[in-house]
Amino acid sequence: MDYTQLLENIYQSILPYAKEGKQADYIPELAKVNPDQFGMCIHTIYGEVAAIEQADTRFSIQSISKVFALAMCLSIKGDALWTKVGKEPSGTAFNSLVQLEVEHGIPRNPFINAGAIVMADILLTHLGNPAADFLQFVREVSGTDTIEYNEHVAISEREKGYLNAAIVNLLKHHGTIENDIEEVLHFYFLMCSIEMSCRELSQAFLVFANHRRRFDYAGVVLTASQVKRMNAIMQTCGFYDEAGEFSYLVGLPGKSGVGGGIVAIYPLQYAVAVWSPRLNAKGNSVLGIKALELLTTETQTSIF
Ligand code: GLU
Repeated sequence: MDYTQLLENIYQSILPYAKEGKQADYIPELAKVNPDQFGMCIHTIYGEVAAIEQADTRFSIQSISKVFALAMCLSIKGDALWTKVGKEPSGTAFNSLVQLEVEHGIPRNPFINAGAIVMADILLTHLGNPAADFLQFVREVSGTDTIEYNEHVAISEREKGYLNAAIVNLLKHHGTIENDIEEVLHFYFLMCSIEMSCRELSQAFLVFANHRRRFDYAGVVLTASQVKRMNAIMQTCGFYDEAGEFSYLVGLPGKSGVGGGIVAIYPLQYAVAVWSPRLNAKGNSVLGIKALELLTTETQTSIF
């Protein structure tokens, strides 16, 4: 399979939609990003790599970081994690408060903000050096030691992060989190602020695609069964309240972020990352979804 040609063809086919949607601007630093960018990269478990356009430009991975946080939390707490956070799709927006109140401070799943804020609290409690340890894990899993946080993005998000501040207060009220709320929020925003390219993200997610291989990176050890179950959560909860539509159109487990990135995996075959900042109303990259829909159609690699 000539993946480079395939990705180029996909890019040409989606160009008519290049001006649809709008980048996230509720995080002031993200509003400054040029929305007219696109990158895509695929890594197969057989060692093939294809990258097109701005596949090497780093962007704010935002909620994609929640997958790395889940890997760390599962390796620390095992199944006990599920007493603090659920694993059902939410059907509400990623920053919704409604469900959290009704369900007494236990977030529906680790990929909505409330769930990731609980994971930030767990990591603060259990890691010796939370910021350094988290970054080291992301670097090892992606095989790149230059990946960094963008503190400006994290600080800018805190300035306007009223909803996330409400979520952390609600969680604290219900006793779901242990640490100081400002520390938890800061660490959560810091994880979201990591910058990576499509090439780095698809390399990193190859370890989830190749779930039967031993998972052991920077002290984060997971069994094949745990990685398989993480993939299941990516399938059901990875795309805000559009996980159903993403399954319908693309048919792969994955995770998106409001920076415009999407990573998806075809178990035991490949990981693919795509990035374009213009988002649809649900917060997913317009070109990203279109590109992945074409990829799974052309290669007949939807899991369904
Ligand atoms: N830091 C973002 C927030 O909390 C992450 C949102 C996302 O990418 O889904 O709003």
